[in-house]
Amino acid sequence: MAGELILIVEDNEKNRKLARDVLQFTGYRTIESDTAEEGLRLAQAEHPALILMDIQLPGMSGIEALGRLRADPRTAAIPVMAVTASAMTHDRQKIMAAGFDGYQSKPINVKEFVQAVRALLDRPAGGGGPA
Ligand code: MN
Repeated sequence: MAGELILIVEDNEKNRKLARDVLQFTGYRTIESDTAEEGLRLAQAEHPALILMDIQLPGMSGIEALGRLRADPRTAAIPVMAVTASAMTHDRQKIMAAGFDGYQSKPINVKEFVQAVRALLDRPAGGGGPA
């Protein structure tokens, strides 16, 4: 465990706390934002190893934020995992089609969540292949 920095973008305080607690317990460092706009600023400034992105956020959506991350050379290569309450199949397809590197539905299953985070962090840099 290298203590990689993970950015959590999530507007629900309970969900944010759960992700933070699980990740810190697992040995990662975390930073947080409750809006996409602030998340983009943090991503540019802190260069996290992974971003966990809620989809439904006040203001800019997680899907729009992903597009902005990908369009910026400073953040284009950071893996981004969608974490969303939308469990319906067509929502999942829409989210993956948007170009996210992974997907976890809320409420998170802690074991699956940690495995998904680890898999994305272990992926070779500059990957971009299937998660
Ligand atoms: Mn939300």
